[in-house]
Amino acid sequence: MENRFKDKNYSLLRFTKKMDVYCPDCGKHAIITDNGILKLHCEHCKLFLRKKLMMYSYRIRHRCPQCDKMIYKDACCLEEKETFVSIECKCGFSRMYKPTYKCEHGYYQKPNSEYTYFDTKLWYSKSFKNEIFWALNMEHLHYLKHYITAKLRERNNREYMTLVETLPDFIKSKKNRLELLKLIETLEKK
Ligand SMILES: [Zn+2]
Ligand SMILES: [Zn+2]
Repeated sequence: MENRFKDKNYSLLRFTKKMDVYCPDCGKHAIITDNGILKLHCEHCKLFLRKKLMMYSYRIRHRCPQCDKMIYKDACCLEEKETFVSIECKCGFSRMYKPTYKCEHGYYQKPNSEYTYFDTKLWYSKSFKNEIFWALNMEHLHYLKHYITAKLRERNNREYMTLVETLPDFIKSKKNRLELLKLIETLEKK
């Protein structure tokens, strides 16, 4: 392991394509993959779950043909598209409109703790003092290990906050280095 860590400017999303978790049904190892649709698959109990991550939003602005006031309707975070949406004006006039949808890659939330999508617990997670150390998968774990091991940590030109810049203090703290590396070793053997 190198003594020097140069930020590769990865963001957490680099590691969300495939995440290791505890199966919510049988408690054994399961995998969540994300390519727009989240899928959980457990090869032990054959549990299979899926959830759409693409979400839709629309905004409608129309002048009411009866009273000439503007009619507004906004919606976001929709999992399905409806072809027509009914809108009623305060004057009582109502009509069906065809919305134009915008599509968003709708993370309900970034995984940011030991719990992640489908309310599962991350496989590579363990409490450390009053904190929880966690990684989404083995590649993420190794990336953190490299960071923690390094005596010299260098930044790199970047245009956004990188994963290592947003790490909690207990991971950044060099006084926790040896204990954290021990913890990582036990996780690597799982
Ligand atoms: Zn299972
Ligand atoms: Zn009206």
